[in-house]
This record gives sequence, structure tokens and C-alpha cells, in this order.
Amino acid sequence: MSGVRVWKVLLGVERRVVVEGVDVEVTDDGESVVVASVRPSRRWGSRCGQCQRRCPGYDRGDGRRRWRGLDLGTTRVFLEADAPRVRCREHGVIVAAVPWARHDSAFTAGFEEQAAWLAAHATATTVAELMRSSWRSVTRMIARVVAEARGKTDRLAGVTRVAIDEKAYRKGHRYLTIVTDLDTGRVVWAAEGRSQATVEAFFAALGPERAAALTHVGCDGADWIHTVVKAQAPQAKLCLDSYHVVAWASEAVDEVRRRIVRELKAAGRGDEAASLKGSRWAVLKNPGNLTGGQQESLASVKKTNEPLYRAYLIKEQLREVFRVKGKRGRRLLAGVISWASRSRLPEMVDLARKLRRFQDLIGNTLDHGVTSALAENTNTHITVLARRAYGFHSPEALIAMIELTRGGLCPPLPGRTS
Ligand SMILES: [Zn+2]
Repeated sequence: MSGVRVWKVLLGVERRVVVEGVDVEVTDDGESVVVASVRPSRRWGSRCGQCQRRCPGYDRGDGRRRWRGLDLGTTRVFLEADAPRVRCREHGVIVAAVPWARHDSAFTAGFEEQAAWLAAHATATTVAELMRSSWRSVTRMIARVVAEARGKTDRLAGVTRVAIDEKAYRKGHRYLTIVTDLDTGRVVWAAEGRSQATVEAFFAALGPERAAALTHVGCDGADWIHTVVKAQAPQAKLCLDSYHVVAWASEAVDEVRRRIVRELKAAGRGDEAASLKGSRWAVLKNPGNLTGGQQESLASVKKTNEPLYRAYLIKEQLREVFRVKGKRGRRLLAGVISWASRSRLPEMVDLARKLRRFQDLIGNTLDHGVTSALAENTNTHITVLARRAYGFHSPEALIAMIELTRGGLCPPLPGRTS
């Protein structure tokens, strides 16, 4: 095999790339790097960097350019080539497309795919360290890889049951609207904002035919979602996702606990207040997930604080509603509502009012057995992503990361067929 062909295999470049020569260069830091001079094949010709349509050349641009490629063993690799400009009918004078890299990137396509794949499987620090790149440039690679994948797949094809959710990020000051396929748990659409206009944008992307095919739309109590769904997909049953409803109950229980702590402190019973403070997770977590200490804490709440324990039982009974489902679930829900409204705990009375207001929508969830387990999973994952010190400098970067990890847009590792 000729040296050039061996290099093509080593560099992982395809048929449309010609390797003109390979050299080892020593950087200012004394690091040896491989620099391969390449050019697109004649058949590739001259193409627009944006749309890849063939178009006439314009000038030589800024001369030679380099693209970082995947390491060879422990050695960094660069591809070097001319970067002429072309004149596209649609995009004007623009740097020509090259077959080994995405437009406007200083990395090869394979390098970006490996970084994106890794970002979906490892922490930001790990990715940056292994790829010898900053996390910030990795987020840009993810954005390019995901944008390309979006163009190749129609994620809204065949969806019939979706959940529409809002998600806070940047310490709750900004929001994303996320649409999840309830059957697969996949994020099928996401955009910045939370308003009627955002939900309308989703329906615009969906189109009227597919909107008519929606059977269930899960959501929280947000009117701005309900209004648009009723207008755009009147046949779809609006369902309140169980995790939103249970979250309302958990918040109410937490409010009860905080109020009692305040009252105990005011009455000079600081010790009791302190022990109640420590019971926070015991009364909020699912009983099955409690640690030994939390179980003890719950037992002591039961003994010493009847009102808080009552609030806890109401919340647990509400969780049971979603486990039972169907007609029995509806009956149980009615029972929980009347129990909460007679509980003499103002927070639980408020909860009862809210549950009554949305009783029909909760009933839809119970009737249709729409399980939101997958969507809930996705929801938790996104919460973690949005909170993690990942340094997403823009909503687009966060959305790209969400679609990479939960939208089915993660590329395979370069060079692997399966
Ligand atoms: Zn173009």
C-alpha cells in the first residue's frame, strides 16, 4: 500500500479527500504534531460552505487553514488546506465547503463527533481534558453536530402522545419549553421561552396534520399551554402529568413543615423546631427511598407532630392515586381532595382547591393510563443539566446538549459502523 493511502486510513479521511503530504512539526511548546496537507478531490469541486451546492470560485480567501483532527496515538493531528472563497447564489461570498469538516469549524467532523459522543457520556471536565480542548469549544462542536443531525431526522414523525413542559435555567431567570414524546421519553422539540407563542411555534413545526393525530398532551397547570393545545389540537386529551401533581403536594407538605418550625421557634421550643428541620427529606421523599435515619425521622414526626404527619399522609395518598389509576384512582382522588380540604392545614386546603380545579385533567391522566415515567426521567435529567456548572453560555447550547442526550441526536463514534 502506498504511503499516501496508509495516511488516508490513519487520518480517517474519506474518498473525497486527497492527501498531498504529511509532516511532523514541533510547536513553540516543544510538542511534536502531525500536519497533513490535504485538498478536496476534483469531484468534490467548489461548493458553498453553508448549503454545499456547487458554485463558482471567488478568491483565495485567507490562504492556508488548519483543522484539528483526532489524535494519532498520543500525538495531535492537524489537517492543512487552502480555504478559498466561493460565490453562492443564496449565501453570497463564503468560504468553500471542505469534505472533512463542518462549516465554520476549526475541527474535523470526526473530532467533533467524538467530542459530542463523549459529552453525552462523561462529565464536562473529562471531555475537555481528553479532547485537549476547552469545554466552551466543545459546546460549539455539540451545537454543530446536533444542528446537522436535526436536519437529517424528523423527530416529530409519528408522535401521538407528548408532554409539554417548561424548564427553568440560569437560576430560574430564564425558561425553555420542552416537548417530550411520552411513548419513547425522547425530547422531540425544544425552544427558549415559555409563552403561548412558544407553544404555537411547536405546533407550527408539527403542522396541522400531525397536530390532528395527537391523542394526549401532558402538561402542568399552565394556562398558556392549555389554551394553545385546545385551539391547535382540540381532539387531544389534556392530561396533568402525575409528577407535577405530586410536586404540588410535596411543596404543600414542605410549607406546612416550615410554618410549624416557625411557630415552634416563636413559642420558644427551639429543640423541637430543630429536629423538625432535619425531617425535611423524610417527609418529601418516596417512602421506598428513605435512608435508615430518614425512616427514624419520619417515625418521630408521626409521634410528635401529628399535623405534619397528616400532611405527609395526604401526599402519599395522592401518589397512590396515580398508582391505582382508572375509576378507582378517580374515586381515591375525590377522597384525597375532601380529606385535604377538611385537614385544617391551610396549605393542604389550598392544595385541595388546586386539585379540584384540575380534577378533570388529572382524571384524563388516570383514565388513559398515560404514564409519564419516561418523560419524568427526561425532566430530571434536564434539571440536572440546567443546574450543573456546565457553562452553557446560551440557551441554544443548552438545547443542543438536551437534544444530544435526550433527543436521540447523539452521533455514533467516528469510524464505527454500529
Ligand atoms: Zn449556499
